Amino acid sequence: MQFRDLKKQYEALKPEIDAGIQDVINSTSFILGKPVTELENQLAEYVGRKHCIGVGNGTDALVLSLRANNVGAGDAVFVADFTYIASASCVSLVGATPVFVDIDLKTFNISPEALEKAIERTIGEGKLTPKAIIAVDLFGLPADMPAIEAIAKKYGLLVVEDAAQGFGGMINGKRACSFGDISATSFFPAKPLGCYGDGGAIFTDDDEIDQRLRSLRAGGKSPTDKYDNREVGYNSRLDSIQAAILLPKFKALADYELTDVNQVAAWYTERLKNVAVTPYIPEGFYSSWAQYTIRLKNKEERDALQSELKAAGIPSMIYYPRGMHQQQVFKDMNLSEELYPNAVEATKTVLSLPMHPYLDEETVDKICAVITDFVKGK
Ligand SMILES: *Cc1c(COP(=O)(O)O)cnc(C)c1O
Repeated sequence: MQFRDLKKQYEALKPEIDAGIQDVINSTSFILGKPVTELENQLAEYVGRKHCIGVGNGTDALVLSLRANNVGAGDAVFVADFTYIASASCVSLVGATPVFVDIDLKTFNISPEALEKAIERTIGEGKLTPKAIIAVDLFGLPADMPAIEAIAKKYGLLVVEDAAQGFGGMINGKRACSFGDISATSFFPAKPLGCYGDGGAIFTDDDEIDQRLRSLRAGGKSPTDKYDNREVGYNSRLDSIQAAILLPKFKALADYELTDVNQVAAWYTERLKNVAVTPYIPEGFYSSWAQYTIRLKNKEERDALQSELKAAGIPSMIYYPRGMHQQQVFKDMNLSEELYPNAVEATKTVLSLPMHPYLDEETVDKICAVITDFVKGK
């Protein structure tokens, strides 16, 4: 059994993917070629933003989003404590300081109450200038954007949506990658929309930011002259082959994968709702299910269940085993556990189950039977 079955998806889309790759080879336009422009146009239209800029990976998408908005030394950037490392390391990479914020245990996303407290605390300390919020759409569920955008407005902060796991999600029909001032996503193979290597994209409605990003991703070049360089830039461009792979995969996602993966989530929840804490999707929210993550009573039960699943040939993952405040790389910040009770609880009790649009009901039955028998002590 696969945790995320990319082979089944390839079998379904093989003719289109193979032809797309061959076309790129024939064109010899390997970087930022025609498929990249086509993908940028299709994705911008789908999410409802004016511009989409293809880049090398999701981490760079976040770094460039901050750079293009002049976030840097002396700035505080607020980010959830419970997330993948890139949500936080992007802040350090531009010279700013991440301020970690506890999560809402029900959604696993940043807690708006804890966010406001962290902003007030930072203002009170007077050392850093509150500048931006990175709102992560964890596990495919959009962050509480209405609440976050209201707080950002109150304190005059920039909102960067980290939609690396969020592509395809929605709040009241408005799509992920269209929230806040700027949005970043990742096409890492296991994400809701993944390619066959590294890739990423940035979404913005601002023409000037769009121009600056197109410069930054290509060495800081001027729009008209590649060898006239205006600022220190990056080499972070999307490959044409990756875009050619993404085009049919995006069509499948929009046509049926999102519906199918939501069906899989419903099968899981139906079977597990009285066995463990199943994912909570707030009213009006729609998840693209980058992960299906349950919570167990405590760490002992979680770890023992993972062993039990493994013995039954069922893969599962702990996303994430530690909060940002517990990461080696941030240990000099001397952050107190007490600020992150929910994130700490999540690290001890979460377990992500096999999840992808090609999972069938029989397999979900088998997985849920193992979990149910274990928890009920049979
Ligand atoms: C995967 C991920 C990233 C980084 O994406 P890469 O393409 O792997 O660099 C950033 N944020 C979150 C929440 C992610 O899950």
